[in-house]
Amino acid sequence: MIAERFRYLRPKDLDEALAWLAESQGEVRVLAGGHSLLPLMKLRLAAPQTVLDVERVEALRGIRLEGDVLHIGAMTRYHELARDPLVAEYAPLLAMAARTVGDPQVRNRGTVGGSICHADPAADFPAAALAMDAEVELRSRAGKRRLPLREFLLGPLSTALAPNELLAAIHVPLRAGWGAAYEKFPHPASGYAVAGVAALINKEGGAARAVAVAVTGVGPVAYRAAATEEVLTGASLDAARIQDGASQVAEGVEVNADLFASADYRRHLAQVLAARALRAAWGSD
Ligand SMILES: Cc1cc2nc3c(=O)[nH]c(=O)nc-3n(C[C@H](O)[C@H](O)[C@H](O)COP(=O)(O)OP(=O)(O)OC[C@H]3O[C@@H](n4cnc5c(N)ncnc54)[C@H](O)[C@@H]3O)c2cc1C
Repeated sequence: MIAERFRYLRPKDLDEALAWLAESQGEVRVLAGGHSLLPLMKLRLAAPQTVLDVERVEALRGIRLEGDVLHIGAMTRYHELARDPLVAEYAPLLAMAARTVGDPQVRNRGTVGGSICHADPAADFPAAALAMDAEVELRSRAGKRRLPLREFLLGPLSTALAPNELLAAIHVPLRAGWGAAYEKFPHPASGYAVAGVAALINKEGGAARAVAVAVTGVGPVAYRAAATEEVLTGASLDAARIQDGASQVAEGVEVNADLFASADYRRHLAQVLAARALRAAWGSD
């Protein structure tokens, strides 16, 4: 298929990008890695009048420490995340999830910002970033605002991004020394998560002082498994306790069903993956 006609803009820096976002008529879409937007346009499921290619915008790149958070530019690609030493030290969960995305081509082009803004219900990165309590930094010509990722992701392919805004970066609290694991059952064709579970545990004095569990592929959009976290937080995580927590990982969620996996099968997968991720993050694997 061939996309509808569109205007192609390639700003040289952030100011130019924000000006064009503010001034362009009709729907404008930011083009990052293009691995989700271009297929949508070719299938004519999206037909923006303007495509804003932010490839040259340096301000959207880079991974750096800023006080007590890791700043990750929206144009950071999965393969960069997977190899970055700061990510390895302070946010290894993000690298674990990035390594499971698609194939090398997708990891070489796909970006953190594209994954978050696309809000695919089966995407890997949003789950890992949710478990990390990431915040998004949104920029427009009017200024910038920050929002917890859990408030930014609204539903399938739906976010709180305003039409004149772009995602500039995510800010991730440092989790050095926390146990981390990402477990995924990939769809055999695309690699997307039929179910995926990200787990983070801060272990102190033989107990789980803090537990974060986030799930993808299972509900309308990636979510935090609150019931699981509640069962596990403050406890010593023996096999029975982990099983108990994992069994509640889809609690209160309307579980997705499709030709590949029924709702019951997906729920079962999520529970199995949650138990695996929790065991690995706790260190009992
Ligand atoms: C064969 C294949 C296999 C894949 N397998 C997986 C997988 O296993 N797991 C997985 O998670 N994903 C997978 N993907 C999706 C891949 O991760 C995409 O790269 C990702 O979903 C979107 O990132 P992108 O940089 O390509 O964004 P684009 O396609 O360029 O953009 C996606 C959407 O986000 C918007 N956008 C992008 N950046 C910004 C920004 N900075 N500010 C505002 N809006 C923005 C765009 O306007 C568009 O609406 C796969 C894709 C393909 C083609």
